[in-house]
Amino acid sequence: MGIRSAGEAFLLKKRIATSWEELRALEGFLADVDRKEIVQGKIVGEYAMPSAAPMQPCGIRQCRTKHRKGFIVELTSHAVSHTGGHCGKKHFGTAAWRERLRSYRDAKQAEAKATALEEVRERAEKVLGTKIVPPPQYDSANKMLAVFDKLPSELRDSIVAKAQDRDSSIAFFRAPTKKEIDNAKFLGERAPTQIRQVIGNIAGLSALLRSSRADYLYEVEIPARLKVVQSSMDGDADDLFDALRKFDVAVQLLNDSIFEAHLFFTDLNFAQFSNLGAVKRLGITSVNIEFEPNFKILLR
Ligand SMILES: [Zn+2]
Repeated sequence: MGIRSAGEAFLLKKRIATSWEELRALEGFLADVDRKEIVQGKIVGEYAMPSAAPMQPCGIRQCRTKHRKGFIVELTSHAVSHTGGHCGKKHFGTAAWRERLRSYRDAKQAEAKATALEEVRERAEKVLGTKIVPPPQYDSANKMLAVFDKLPSELRDSIVAKAQDRDSSIAFFRAPTKKEIDNAKFLGERAPTQIRQVIGNIAGLSALLRSSRADYLYEVEIPARLKVVQSSMDGDADDLFDALRKFDVAVQLLNDSIFEAHLFFTDLNFAQFSNLGAVKRLGITSVNIEFEPNFKILLR
């Protein structure tokens, strides 16, 4: 890339001037340019003054129209001046002015894209350059999950199945009462043969789902997401942005999962497990947990 003109340098920094002082301070600014000269130029920016600012005439010598907003035009000499939209159309000619506007907008868009790519690359480099350390509560969540994994498979699988079904309730079926039968008849419904009675609710079940378990997220998902970020470094901004977003999501999921695990491994939850069908079938009467000195799940 060659040496940038004042206009191009302005473009790369900021595309809009918002005071007359700022506009006039542009390097090579000319307040009074012959029409023939300005119509050879190209649009490199815009100006928009606040409504309280006085209106000022255009940079085209032959034009006496005053405005507060319009376009910054770079001349072939690399000096810059300005013209309002209507004046531009009038002096450049409708077709030429439209063409100038189009290439200005294209350049602006290309520049915005390049800036976005630069920003997203910077963020990706930062992510890739940072050592990923597990969140503070990760170790304890991981230990508790490992102990959970060693439960008798029938019990463990029945709890994991509830997580998969997103069913956190503990319920049993009982015969309907006379009142429930009468009530159904009164409403014109068929009398129930059994009633599902919810007696408890398990918190933090999602900590057990394979795809949202803390150990899976930390050991498999996050490293995989980082690899995608790495391999997207040479791609376009959208791909890299998407890779970073998915990495962020995985990190957030890990934090959520650790939080859920600590909700799951509580006395309150485990005391309720004695009501699970699997527990009854195994002849277990009570399920408790112990935190000290080492985390344990006690089945009696
Ligand atoms: Zn004008």
